[in-house]
Amino acid sequence: MSQPVLDVRDLIVEYKTPKGPARAVNEVSFSLRAGERFGLVGESGSGKSTTVLALMRMLRGGRIAAGEIRLNGVDLAQISEPAMRRVRFAEMSLVPQGAMSSLNPVLRIGDQMADIFEDHGVRRSAVEREGRIERLLEQVGLPGTVRWRFPHELSGGMKQRVCIAMSIALRPSLILADEPTSALDVVVQKQVLGTLSRVQRELGAAIILIGHDMALMAHFVSRIGVMYAGRLVETGPVRKVFAAPRHPYTKMLIEALPSFEKTAAFKGIPGVGPSLLDPLPGCPFHNRCPMAIERCRTDPPAFRTGSEDHHAACHRTEELADA
Ligand code: SF4
Repeated sequence: MSQPVLDVRDLIVEYKTPKGPARAVNEVSFSLRAGERFGLVGESGSGKSTTVLALMRMLRGGRIAAGEIRLNGVDLAQISEPAMRRVRFAEMSLVPQGAMSSLNPVLRIGDQMADIFEDHGVRRSAVEREGRIERLLEQVGLPGTVRWRFPHELSGGMKQRVCIAMSIALRPSLILADEPTSALDVVVQKQVLGTLSRVQRELGAAIILIGHDMALMAHFVSRIGVMYAGRLVETGPVRKVFAAPRHPYTKMLIEALPSFEKTAAFKGIPGVGPSLLDPLPGCPFHNRCPMAIERCRTDPPAFRTGSEDHHAACHRTEELADA
């Protein structure tokens, strides 16, 4: 089997607060192979966006307290900031959540794209560079003339496509997409995800899609990781996870999905997640879990192998699988 493009081991991320360190990501491990599509889901504050920012080494006010982030064999947690700058865009790129806040409002789109080549020392003649920018824009379904426009002249969907074009400019082996369609309406969401899907396939890059929309994930990724309170609580092929979830939190997320067939009242997940400053002992989900037993209040569940590729951190995972 080929080496993973990305191998994250026991990653811990902490934020400094006046009340002490808040552990936003807690011993998270996962890996991705070339071309693989992996989805990270969970409620707000579950640690999924922090995980992605840690991979990019773009944490503001936070730090990687422990763990390894191996991208093509190199541990990004250990390299210098200048070396990390060379990795961004060239080996790993980010499609951000809010395109408007990540694009420079006073620079034309073409100039912002040209900066990527400039920053990475890609020497091209002006004609070659313009041609490359035009092709990148066309690759994401935009006319080449968009390079002359300013961000405020574009719709939300167009700006997000520009961000996708920028993310693939240097042909990275890994794309991180942090809720790339959250600010868009449903129709544009589908189009933008379709574009992302197509360029990722053309490039052969692996991708991590972050989101909280389980239905959207089910259509886009092949493997999924569910995060809760900074921990990865279940991972597996998306079909297996949807057909037979092995963690009660995943099961409740799936049951909360709206559907045309369901006529019963909408089912949410009662309660709120634990404070990161004052984590619960035992299983972090025990105060909301309908399957909690005494042991769950004191004994943190380890990640257990359900089948070769489907794992969950729950003391009662076998019972859930049997059910
Ligand atoms: Fe629920 Fe216990 Fe499993 Fe945690 S370990 S998810 S509390 S059954």
